[in-house]
Amino acid sequence: MKQSQLYAPTTKDVSSQAVAMSHILGLKAGLMYQNAAGIYSYLPLATMVLEKITKIVDEELRAIGANKLILPLLEPAELWEKSGRWNEMGDELFKVKDRTNKEYALAPTHEEVVTDLVKNHLNTYKKYPLNVYQVGTKMRDERRPRFGLLRGKEFVMMDGYSFHTDNESLMSTYNDYFKAYERILNRIGVNFRVVEADNGSMGGSQSNEFMALADVGEDTICYLEDSKEAYNLEVCPVYTDTTKNAGSIEEVKLTKTPETSKIVDLVENYSIAVENTIKAICFSTIENEIIMALVAGNHDVNEVKLTNFVNKGELQFASSELLLENNLVEGYIGPYNLDSEVTIIADNAVSKIVCGSVGGNEYGTHYFNVNYDRDLSSIKLADIRVAALGDKLTENSENIKFTRGIEVGHIFALGCKYTDSMKVQYLDKNQKKQTPVMGCYGLGVSRLISAVLEQSHDEKGIIWPKNISPFDIHVIPLDYKKKAEQREFTDKLVLDLKENGFNVLLDDRDERPGVKFTEADLLGFPVQIVVGRKFTEGIVEFKARNSEDKKELEIDELIKEIKNVL
Ligand code: ATP
Ligand code: MG
Repeated sequence: MKQSQLYAPTTKDVSSQAVAMSHILGLKAGLMYQNAAGIYSYLPLATMVLEKITKIVDEELRAIGANKLILPLLEPAELWEKSGRWNEMGDELFKVKDRTNKEYALAPTHEEVVTDLVKNHLNTYKKYPLNVYQVGTKMRDERRPRFGLLRGKEFVMMDGYSFHTDNESLMSTYNDYFKAYERILNRIGVNFRVVEADNGSMGGSQSNEFMALADVGEDTICYLEDSKEAYNLEVCPVYTDTTKNAGSIEEVKLTKTPETSKIVDLVENYSIAVENTIKAICFSTIENEIIMALVAGNHDVNEVKLTNFVNKGELQFASSELLLENNLVEGYIGPYNLDSEVTIIADNAVSKIVCGSVGGNEYGTHYFNVNYDRDLSSIKLADIRVAALGDKLTENSENIKFTRGIEVGHIFALGCKYTDSMKVQYLDKNQKKQTPVMGCYGLGVSRLISAVLEQSHDEKGIIWPKNISPFDIHVIPLDYKKKAEQREFTDKLVLDLKENGFNVLLDDRDERPGVKFTEADLLGFPVQIVVGRKFTEGIVEFKARNSEDKKELEIDELIKEIKNVL
């Protein structure tokens, strides 16, 4: 393709709202255009990248027996009502009405639609397993769309769904997707790590996230140096050595502690070690039941682990009104001598505190000298705290390390959540009705573009990994317009390269060399070939975008060198 025909509006000026490198580079290199917050047009270069990623996805998923199809973007509300998610999903779900007032969701995901679709077909065990997927647009009314394509209101996702008569078959397909994702991400050229993840509201038994390593990532990855074991911080287990802290046990004392609604104030005003204070954080269930979580003052409550342990659906922070109704005094809440009925869960580390201080349940008071074994032993202990520096996964593991990641893929062994609620049944070998189990698999195709840009750039611009670069080679003649001889030479060279199977962008514009080079570095295709003065001797300049070295080469050597890089 000729660059004079390419629609890639590069620019130096990008909005100051673009802070993520991938966002800045995407706008500078003319990959995308922001139509509104979280809404983008994919310009030709990004479209080429999307096509290449999609091709890799198609190859790898068809190889595991997945059927590609296209599902509707308008999803009838009644399907979502059957699954319960019409209300459950909250404000993220875009809802629209047609002219007859019939309601639809704008597709954020397709579990309901696909389950409804295959329901009649999957009526006998003989039709199982079934594995389908699509690559297409998703819409979610994200609270905070940001970082360009990393979190859009509209984005491109690969979503796969599989149906099985038993768990063994489900886990076999789950593992197929797991390995296919690894191959896809390796082929794309993403540096990633797989972590154990939360099943969340999706339910089910097993879930893994695929994290592209990048500082801008919104997730924290907890890992061990020389092991594949890794967790999303949300679910990372923490080992607690329950040997008691130092100190002797004394009588509980209700003490006036004015202006100590925060742990720091208590620690400062009464010279208490922070690890000997006990924080009480109150949550509420959907049914307005209060769940009080206790952690040592130097720890934080991990809401996901707590939610999973309590197992009563989503939790949120208890409102001031609800606390008041339950005689709980904000800032001075504690588990000791409590005269209201609340469920209390304590983190394992609470049990090692000697003479701890807890809220007194009266304004401006604390109980001092509280000991779990003596005073709180009816409270259930569990691992409900956030892993932090110095923590271990298990007694003998090394310390947990932390790094940031972008969730680019997520796979779930779902179980029966949708097949149950949407009443899918099949007849087994004995003509008995059974409910199938299901898996679902998501890969953020447009988010992957950003993940790659985050990982693969330098101060001059993008460095596209070769398998998804819009073009393989950027040919840059210095006097293409003005010098007929150079033009002929370059045209022949481009033809040669094409015959060798390479995809070439020819900079045929009448621009200064400096402008051309700067732009070539910004666009970042793997190989640059400059046709300059020495073309008369049959020599051109070769440069790989990911290296500083330039080489003067004759055409024969050139092809060899290109094949090395690509
Ligand atoms: P997140 O926690 O980032 O919101 P999610 O758990 O909501 O992600 P899934 O529903 O599992 O995401 O969607 C599958 C994949 O789609 C994700 O792994 C991610 O790569 C991508 N994705 C999800 N939301 C967005 C978004 N708003 N913009 C771009 N990609 C997204
Ligand atoms: Mg989300």
